Amino acid sequence: MIYSSEAIVLENKEYGEADLIVTYLTREFGILDLFAKSPRKIKSRFGSSLEPLTYSKISFIGREDKLQKIIQSDILYPFQKIRENYKTLLKLAEIVRWIIQFSPKKEKNPELFNLMLTVLKEIENSNKHENYILFLKIKILSILGYLPDIRYCGVCGKMLNGEHYYLKGFILCSNCLYKNGFEDIDNKTKDSYMIPRGVMNFLNSFLKWQLPYLERVKINEKLMNQVESFIKKHISLTVKL
Ligand SMILES: [Zn+2]
Repeated sequence: MIYSSEAIVLENKEYGEADLIVTYLTREFGILDLFAKSPRKIKSRFGSSLEPLTYSKISFIGREDKLQKIIQSDILYPFQKIRENYKTLLKLAEIVRWIIQFSPKKEKNPELFNLMLTVLKEIENSNKHENYILFLKIKILSILGYLPDIRYCGVCGKMLNGEHYYLKGFILCSNCLYKNGFEDIDNKTKDSYMIPRGVMNFLNSFLKWQLPYLERVKINEKLMNQVESFIKKHISLTVKL
């Protein structure tokens, strides 16, 4: 049986002397590892279609419980400009790692595929890379269920307002922080668990933004760094990468 799908290359790994294992995010089958025979032997269009972030139409064969083999790969869009921008590529590589790590293999996820494709197209034609990358990060964590609840307390379930604290992967209200053995902590220690109000407000509104807005908006650099470090802390505490 021959399968086919649109797909975005997430990464490729050398396999044997001239072969590759390519990890794709596909529209029809979710995350897939596929075998590519001899793309490294000669510089070919087939070989360049396996470069990370390339958007292609692929066909492959083989039993579903075995490593399936790519028999055709036609580039739909190479995202050449993104791949020539080292800084952006590095940031996207982090997001790609999350996708591979956090999504179950062979599970169709149209929302994830569409998001990735749409945002890559925007980045390719924009110079507001940082806005789009932050958007992609937060949306992907949200789609894959790795974003903590930002509206309700992770312990008591009440709507969050006032002060917010971050503890072991959850956002808590101040009441619940105290109940978790924090009765006696001094203000300085307590503050180190606090999420800046700006970050919470930003996350709340950011998830509702539409793509065209990202092209116009200027996100304050300090706020962007605070949001980035909150996400980084959350990922490092909840997931082993
Ligand atoms: Zn609570």
